[in-house]
Amino acid sequence: MLRLSHQDWLERAARLRPMTVHHIDGADHAGDGDTFPVVAPRDGSPLADVARAGQREVDLAAAAARRAFDTGAWPRLAPAERGRALIRFADSVEAHREELALTIALEMGKPVTEAYTIELRAVAACFRWYGEIADKLVDEAPQTASDALALVTREPVGVVAAVVPWNFPLTMAAWKVAPALAAGCTVVLKPAEQSPLSALRLGRLAAEAGLPPGVFNVVAGEGPTAGRALGLHPDVDVLAFTGSTAVGRHFLRYAADSNLKRVWLELGGKSPNIVLPDADPLAAAASAAWGVFFNQGEMCTAPSRLLVHSSIADRVTDAVVERARALRVGDPLDPATTMGALVSAEHLVRVRDHITRAHAAGARLRTGGARLERAGHYLEPTVFDRVAPDMALAREEVFGPVLAVLTFDTEDEAIRLANASEYGLAAGVWTTNLSAAHRISRAVRAGTVWVNCYEEGGLNVPFGGVKQSGHGRDKSLHALEKYTDLKTTWIAL
Ligand code: NAD
Repeated sequence: MLRLSHQDWLERAARLRPMTVHHIDGADHAGDGDTFPVVAPRDGSPLADVARAGQREVDLAAAAARRAFDTGAWPRLAPAERGRALIRFADSVEAHREELALTIALEMGKPVTEAYTIELRAVAACFRWYGEIADKLVDEAPQTASDALALVTREPVGVVAAVVPWNFPLTMAAWKVAPALAAGCTVVLKPAEQSPLSALRLGRLAAEAGLPPGVFNVVAGEGPTAGRALGLHPDVDVLAFTGSTAVGRHFLRYAADSNLKRVWLELGGKSPNIVLPDADPLAAAASAAWGVFFNQGEMCTAPSRLLVHSSIADRVTDAVVERARALRVGDPLDPATTMGALVSAEHLVRVRDHITRAHAAGARLRTGGARLERAGHYLEPTVFDRVAPDMALAREEVFGPVLAVLTFDTEDEAIRLANASEYGLAAGVWTTNLSAAHRISRAVRAGTVWVNCYEEGGLNVPFGGVKQSGHGRDKSLHALEKYTDLKTTWIAL
């Protein structure tokens, strides 16, 4: 149980000396002295100057990963040994949980208590889960005539480049790195330029936990330079990307313009949350508010379109508004804070622009909409109702604490509205009617459908999207499919 006060966290923050150099081939690597600044969203103050990877650093990291894969021990180890290394890595993350949570809160603005209790727990659990399953996988020996033996084996695919966003800097990284390493691949991780500090620290922790040099490399740098260099790199076999749909398109082009590396995409969302008239309105409202405001609304799965039956729309919306007003927006280092700061000044401008346009389009502002008049990038939790399906707020991903409420009158209309999106990441359904729950979850095109809950699940269920929310699955045994190739060996006896 974490029992640190605001003052305790402030003192720890003042003492924190974040990692600011790349982790390449098992060692710190400062690059050529070129750096970029990382700013704390909580007050706009400079946090650190971080080594900026260019082509040279990306080449070094990719070459180290290539060597570790082609001639190193890692892909050739007994799976149980790889598993033990991942479990040691998980132990190390747990042992540094407080420091990593603080680093995340400082670099991207989420409440430190959420970073500690939710994100760091998820990260350690992810490395542990893939460590534990590493030696429990079996291959296939299909039946043949007696003069032959057929083997279908899964082989690690090679060097994986993982490029991830800032909203869950280490969870998004772990969802890619852990299965890739468990499969026997080697990895180059590039965190987002807004949140490189926690990932750089993870690189050092991996080395301390005994991962061999070159197996896990971390380079910090901007997307259009370092991210692009990884995307085009001839030594990279697989690109595992989480981020916006716009940048996902770049990665498909990078693959086409280079070695046709495989590309896996976890992209944006505009998830519908459908409340039928027989649902428990207060439970649905509590979950809807939690879902859309959690992590400052910077959630790919945020249920940002609340589709409510018109007969209970006012009741549900009023309850969401009440919940929104009860949130405590403030310093991420204050344990009493329930909503922190948006990641950057630019992002705050973008989110506020969505609000301005929703107003202009005729949506009704029920609460929020204003930034807090203090240093840092704080925005009130915001709810609009009377949102029409053709308004930008019903279609575009905001990636901030802004809810659009729409109404429907029939189940068919709810399904039509839910599917009227280029995205297909997740959806929610609230009803006590079992048949309606099944009908709707079948009809809605989404990678995950939650019934009478939201954001629930475990590492044993896959996560990912359809349509322009991407393809491929993180988590569960299915994630290993991204990092392995099937080989058929046919032996004449
Ligand atoms: P982003 O696409 O701007 O950046 C993601 C990563 O891509 C960063 O590391 C960035 O440096 C890199 N990048 C940016 N431009 C690049 C380029 N031209 N070439 C190569 N790399 C480039 O996204 P973001 O702002 O960091 O994160 C927000 C987005 O991520 C939202 O759309 C959100 O829905 C999505 N997201 C999706 C999931 C999911 O699992 N589906 C999870 C979290 C976030």
